[in-house]
Amino acid sequence: MLRLRVRTSGASKHIACPDCDAVYDAPTLKEGEQVLCAQCHASLFHYHRNSLHRAAALTIAAAFLFLVANCFPFMTLRAGYRESQMLLSQSVSGLEEQDSPFLGAAVGIFTLAAPTLVISGLAYLLLGLIAGRRLPGAIPLCRWVYRARRWNMTEVFLLGALVSLLKLGKLATLTLGISFWAFVGLIICLTAALSSIDYRELWTRLEEIEA
Ligand SMILES: [Zn+2]
Repeated sequence: MLRLRVRTSGASKHIACPDCDAVYDAPTLKEGEQVLCAQCHASLFHYHRNSLHRAAALTIAAAFLFLVANCFPFMTLRAGYRESQMLLSQSVSGLEEQDSPFLGAAVGIFTLAAPTLVISGLAYLLLGLIAGRRLPGAIPLCRWVYRARRWNMTEVFLLGALVSLLKLGKLATLTLGISFWAFVGLIICLTAALSSIDYRELWTRLEEIEA
C-alpha cells in the first residue's frame, strides 16, 4: 500500500477519492500494490497481481457461456401432451409479439447487446495487452466497455425469469435448459472478470503500452 499526498500543484495526472473528493497526484504502481486515501482510507486504485491473465480467462469463459446461453433452450414447458421450448432470444421477440415493443427492446439491450459489447470489448482489449499491443481503437473501446457495463443487467433478467418460473411451475411441468445454467455461469464469470481488473488499472496499462 502507498501513502499519498494531497495534490497542491498542477500535475497532469491525478486521482480523486470517490468518498471524500480529496485529489492526489497519481502514483506509479507495481503489480499487487494498492492505493488508499490518506484521509478516509477508501481504496482508490488496486493494481491486481496477474490481473490481465485472470480477467482474460474469465472473459473467454463468459464468451463461451454467452454463446451456449443463446444457442440452447432456456427452459422447456410441458402441459399434457404439449411441449414448448423457449430460447433466450425469444424473450425479446415474445414481448414484441405481445404488444410490448419497448419492453422487448429494453430486454434486448440489457441482456443481449450490452453483454455482447462488454465481453467482446474486454476480450479485444485484454488479449491485445497480453500480446504486448494496444490494438487499434482500444482507447475509445475502453470507454465504451465501461459505459456498457452499467447497462449489462443479466442478473436483473435472471431474477425476473426466476419469479416467472415460480408462477409458471404451477401451470405446467418446467425443465430448466442448458441455456439457463450457462446464463448463471455467464453472470458469475463476467462479474469476476470485471472485478479482476478495474477501469483505472486497464486504462493505465493501455497508456503504458505502445500502440
Ligand atoms: Zn477519501
